Amino acid sequence: MGKNKKIAVIGAGIVGLCNALQLQQQGHQVTLFDKHGIAEQCSKGNAGHFATEQVFPLADKSLLPKLPKMLLDRLSPLRIDWRYFTKAMPWFIRFCYNMLNSKYLRHTQALKTLNKDAINAYARLLGHDFAEHVILRGSLLTFEHGNVDEIIALQNKFLHEGIQVQLLNQEEVQAIEPQLSIRIKYALLFTEVGHTADPLQLSLCVYKKFVASGGQFVQQQVTDITSSNHMWTLSTPQTEHGQFEKVIISTGAWSKHLCKQLGYKVPIEAERGYHNMLSAHALSRPVASADRQFIMTPMNHGLRLAGTVEFAGLDTPPMYERAACLLSHAKSMLKDFDGVEQGEHWMGPRPSLPDSLPIICNAPEHPNIIFSFGHQHLGLTQAAISSELVANLVAKQPSAFDISPYSITRFQ
Ligand SMILES: Cc1cc2nc3c(=O)[nH]c(=O)nc-3n(C[C@H](O)[C@H](O)[C@H](O)COP(=O)(O)OP(=O)(O)OC[C@H]3O[C@@H](n4cnc5c(N)ncnc54)[C@H](O)[C@@H]3O)c2cc1C
Repeated sequence: MGKNKKIAVIGAGIVGLCNALQLQQQGHQVTLFDKHGIAEQCSKGNAGHFATEQVFPLADKSLLPKLPKMLLDRLSPLRIDWRYFTKAMPWFIRFCYNMLNSKYLRHTQALKTLNKDAINAYARLLGHDFAEHVILRGSLLTFEHGNVDEIIALQNKFLHEGIQVQLLNQEEVQAIEPQLSIRIKYALLFTEVGHTADPLQLSLCVYKKFVASGGQFVQQQVTDITSSNHMWTLSTPQTEHGQFEKVIISTGAWSKHLCKQLGYKVPIEAERGYHNMLSAHALSRPVASADRQFIMTPMNHGLRLAGTVEFAGLDTPPMYERAACLLSHAKSMLKDFDGVEQGEHWMGPRPSLPDSLPIICNAPEHPNIIFSFGHQHLGLTQAAISSELVANLVAKQPSAFDISPYSITRFQ
């Protein structure tokens, strides 16, 4: 019932790709649009961590006293380019407002609900390709300080939300990751999370399955969406593509433009993150540092150091020093790493809303347009589960959980 619709998905990052494959698998005729190639923006260079344990919104009031120092230091884990300061302010004001207890608790529940079945959703979407791309070996959050009471309090905070996590001492950390330095006194081991050894290859796998099941890709930028007789036409600089029954907008950090054109305001910002792709190998699972605020993930071609948040808009050139400085952190955390040289540096824009929740909903004034963007630090983690919610919206079927927290109406 209701199958075989002609659907356009705009954006071929991991979120748009999963939407396109999910809908194509459900019997629709999907055309995927992107101004670039497959996963060439934020989705190819991420840390590859299926971080289902990250259920706490970033807008946490414990961040407030640290903010001024962080913002002034060019290489600190969080930076605002001073030229972008006034543009970023409205987002930051909303971000601080979301630190209110009631909002923090509500958003924690909404993130938890989305993350809970996120890895299983990949298994459903990828079928027999799942095992090749998703490694289920858990991840570590490490601590170089010895304040064990503070770490136990954090462990209890996770346990309270139903996240499986074990506290490891120095010896136990060495037993499972012998290349980590003995500076690391404790770690939290999250046992139910996973990683991919190449986010680009995972994206390309989703794309190949999409094409193999009859989906089409058009490498053009969508500049305009117009409707007539309940059908949608997408304009690109080259031509017009017509007669779509549904349009899914998955344009990541660029989503403001098409939303504005349709009459919706979204306070989305690019939280620019960096990676440094080393050719050296170490580690068997993602290892994040609570003290240094970055993550190291073992990948097929070496060790990827990733992290940092920078507010500088979509068009300012990258400041690759931020990627380079991750190497000295890695050298402090790993044995036998002194001689390791800088790797390839990369920057990508995380699509972030100030409450850390994505927008996944029908457009209130345009029932055949569906929004699916704003997955911030968790786009890789949440792409497959989001695509199931999008498929339910297309089929006009209820989802297994309440999706009202992800509605765009919270910003209108
Ligand atoms: C350093 C770093 C590390 C990260 N680590 C992790 C991690 O470990 N785990 C995790 O879950 N997440 C992680 N993330 C976040 C994750 O990468 C993003 O949330 C995710 O890639 C967003 O996917 P997307 O498809 O929404 O956006 P994108 O991948 O940016 O895709 C959006 C696409 O839309 C296209 N587009 C935009 N406008 C138009 C238009 N008008 N017409 C046609 N095409 C258009 C763009 O060209 C782009 O290809 C990390 C991010 C960074 C930067």
